[in-house]
Amino acid sequence: MAQASHLQLPSTQILHADRKDSLQYGELHAPVYRNIAYHYDQSADIAAVFQGNKKGYTYGRQTNPSLTALEKKISMLEGGLDSVLFASGMAAISSMLFALLQQGDQVIASSYLFGNTRSLLESFIRFGIELVFVDTTDVKHVEQRLNEKTKLVFLETLANPRTQISDLKRIGELCLSKGILYVVDNTMTSPALFQPKQVQAGLIINSLSKYIGGHGACLGGSLTETGLFDWSQFSNIAEIYRKYPVASQGLMQIRKKGLRDMGGTLSPDSANLLALGLETLTLRMATINRNALAIAQFLANHPLIQQVYYPGLAQHPQHQRATTLFASYGGLMSFELVEHIDLNQFIDRLQYFVCSSNLGDNRSLVIPVAQTIFYEIGSQKRKEMAISEQLIRLSVGIEPLDDLLADLDQALTVA
Ligand SMILES: *Cc1c(COP(=O)(O)O)cnc(C)c1O
Repeated sequence: MAQASHLQLPSTQILHADRKDSLQYGELHAPVYRNIAYHYDQSADIAAVFQGNKKGYTYGRQTNPSLTALEKKISMLEGGLDSVLFASGMAAISSMLFALLQQGDQVIASSYLFGNTRSLLESFIRFGIELVFVDTTDVKHVEQRLNEKTKLVFLETLANPRTQISDLKRIGELCLSKGILYVVDNTMTSPALFQPKQVQAGLIINSLSKYIGGHGACLGGSLTETGLFDWSQFSNIAEIYRKYPVASQGLMQIRKKGLRDMGGTLSPDSANLLALGLETLTLRMATINRNALAIAQFLANHPLIQQVYYPGLAQHPQHQRATTLFASYGGLMSFELVEHIDLNQFIDRLQYFVCSSNLGDNRSLVIPVAQTIFYEIGSQKRKEMAISEQLIRLSVGIEPLDDLLADLDQALTVA
């Protein structure tokens, strides 16, 4: 099995970031600012802030010092120019689409997208957006559907629950050469495993609710601008945002039209909790990666398991791609039980894998897929997406590996 390349994550910078800012009392960790409004002695100063000529805070819906502290850390982790935070991953994605698309545009998206993102994109059809889903594991499917109306290509690094890995690098090169915005959702890998900037992404999405926070204690989402996309080629930027540097026009429009006007603002308390979780991201991911690989190997060798989907296994169709691109293979996997084993009974026998719909939590989680997160799309689409009725998803946590293996072993032994 190939060894995944190692990504140098700046944990030192994450831990020391707040100390370097001029906080009022030299706090080591930026405090929670629950404040909404700000006073200015001079009306010229508030005008300068409104007009973008001076940095400052105006109103809590737009940003807040607790959010700025986390925005800086996310930008640093993604190697980006700037980031905007939202109340959830879905708020980030919906605000981005709302801010950037116009009637008549076409969007090419991965056919393996997170279900809620797929559902959201489908809602935009009502507003005159043409939507095309393609198998993004091969760049040629994207290339075939590109046309002069294509505004953006949207995909995820690692698909949930079947773990397909998009042709990230070649799609990035294609988008760059055609001047098309490349939007990559990095939630499943997190910046601890992968920086989409390396494959030319223009905008990066993270649901902070998952690995970044790790605790499952609050929702959050972010959009990061890498500076690689030439916004002068993007016809949907309003004239008023053309006065900003070209590299930041897109995120500026998202900040104003997407965050300010739609109001999906992250709460300062959540930003603070997410920043605390983020401090241990690299430690957690190292344990999660080690646990998940061992669990995938255990399941792959078990006679009651039909199939295991995990990019760390040599038989995974994009194993080589994952090895080249990612620092490791992550904590998400899915598997199919052999037909005569009752899926619900198996899950109910597990002690440490908690039956829950979240992922990226410190705790190991388990969920039956077809009956829950893929229930709404119906059996026909499940068949098309190769989601078996016996499919189970695991999100591996940070518990000691022996406990997790023993738990799976006992649940399969009784069977
Ligand atoms: C969970 C998730 C989202 C949505 O994030 P929320 O914070 O739950 O709104 C988006 N994309 C992916 C890949 C996710 O896993």
